[in-house]
Amino acid sequence: MGTKHNHELIFMEPVLQKRIWGGSRLKNEWGYDSEQDKELGECWAVSCNEQTDSRVTEGEYRGKHLSQLWREEPELFGREADGTEFPLLIKIIDAKENLSVQVHPDDTYAEEHEHSKGKRECWYILDCPPNAELIVGTHAKDRDELKRMIEEKKWDDLLNRIPVKKGDFIQIDPGTIHAITAGVELLEVQQNSDVTYRIYDYDRLQNGTPRQLQLQQGMDVINVSDEISEESVIHPKSKDNILQRLISTCDYLVWTIRVNGVASVGRIANSFLIGSVLEGSGKCNGQLLSKGMHFIVPHDYSLDRIEGNLRINFAAPVYS
Ligand code: ZN
Repeated sequence: MGTKHNHELIFMEPVLQKRIWGGSRLKNEWGYDSEQDKELGECWAVSCNEQTDSRVTEGEYRGKHLSQLWREEPELFGREADGTEFPLLIKIIDAKENLSVQVHPDDTYAEEHEHSKGKRECWYILDCPPNAELIVGTHAKDRDELKRMIEEKKWDDLLNRIPVKKGDFIQIDPGTIHAITAGVELLEVQQNSDVTYRIYDYDRLQNGTPRQLQLQQGMDVINVSDEISEESVIHPKSKDNILQRLISTCDYLVWTIRVNGVASVGRIANSFLIGSVLEGSGKCNGQLLSKGMHFIVPHDYSLDRIEGNLRINFAAPVYS
């Protein structure tokens, strides 16, 4: 089928966000634009919310914002104009220091208490130090033990750590305590929500005062029976030029592909996709791709010919 709209990828302009734990790689290694060169924690690569509204960098929609496309060109996204919010947020995170230990609510809790969507997220590890570990889940047997260990600040005993390597992939469900640790750089695909309950911030100060914790809400939503272990980490092992699905949840699907030569993957979802070029460079149906680019693949667009030497991750929302 295909309408006049659906014949090109729509590239988005990344926006950097300052964070006290951020580094300088987003500017120096990814080439993203910023006036400063430290504490650059997050690249909001494809974003459509009150904080950042991604802008199209080239082509037919150049200069338009994602919110405008979402509202005015629903067919690009394979949907009706139904007043719902853009579903996903794509970030690259550069943690020079540890991020706070945190947890996110699910949709039900967030809608009731925050008038927001909940936050499910997942991580594709782009870089990390040797022997890196992420904090995912806890060792608490039940809610009473969790409460006691938090009150007594027994963080080392409480927090579960999992080893990770470059190229690993991890799903973080709402209710699972988690933290990105110093030195890790990752691609995050998440629900379009910013509701975070901070449990522990290493007693750090920001402008002389500790950042606020949200222990009560955190206790409400922490899932103590989550079974997170080393087996929860996916080690993608696909051959070159073969698309590999990393995860399928009720909110999104994520795939990765390493292209070396030519790959043809066609259409891989019934909605639109968001593509992120994580390594290398090449072309997709003639359009140039290089590391650090993020783009919308319109509904009905077919990824017929991806060529070059590059890795791309794709995310698709699941429409409810
Ligand atoms: Zn999080």
